[in-house]
Amino acid sequence: MQRINIEKAKVNKRKKKNKKIELSKRIFLLLIAILFIVVLLKILHKNNILKINYDLGLDDLEITEESSFPDEVYGIKVHTKLVDENTKERPGIKRKIKYLVIHETDNFGKTATAENHSIYLLENQNKNTTSWHYTVDEKEIYHHIPDNEEAYHAGTDEGNKYGVGIELCVNEGSNFDKTMENGAKLVAYLLKEYDLSIKDIKMHNDFSGKDCPHKIREENRFDEFKSMVKKFMENN
Ligand SMILES: [Zn+2]
Repeated sequence: MQRINIEKAKVNKRKKKNKKIELSKRIFLLLIAILFIVVLLKILHKNNILKINYDLGLDDLEITEESSFPDEVYGIKVHTKLVDENTKERPGIKRKIKYLVIHETDNFGKTATAENHSIYLLENQNKNTTSWHYTVDEKEIYHHIPDNEEAYHAGTDEGNKYGVGIELCVNEGSNFDKTMENGAKLVAYLLKEYDLSIKDIKMHNDFSGKDCPHKIREENRFDEFKSMVKKFMENN
């Protein structure tokens, strides 16, 4: 009798052990299946076979690998004066580029040029989290942060995570038409560089509802701006 009991106990033990192994196997197979599905979705998404919107978080997995540092765009000088990495303004988070976000500095002082905005950014590093990629005035362009890194200008996660922030100067005495033209040249260059299209040009207002770019919105000139971009893209 006792021997039979011992045998039974042994059998039960073995059964339990087998069940455990069976369960581990199933969990393992399930994880492999999930991994396979994620990789498959990513490949389909990347090749535009299956377009999944960013709500599924797949864009978070993609980054724009190379950032462009032009010396000039269609005859306009671009000065690269990068903010230090690992600062509040530039934490160095790589991301995918999806939008070009147009702003105005709203700084009407005579000296509020692109160069002085660059000096301001470099002299005030780590003081606040407001940052953007380019400042454009009637003469030239300053580049502050690599295009494939996050900056903080759009007022929403979507705009900051995926947008390249471009500030147009409105300093007193400057020729804003020329500034807009220079901005349009930069935007045309960047759209080509990152394989984006006219519909990817956004206003700060599109993200957070802020009245920016103020002058362009007030004078209803955003379509004119986009037409200029189109013209520069076609002619270059
Ligand atoms: Zn703005």
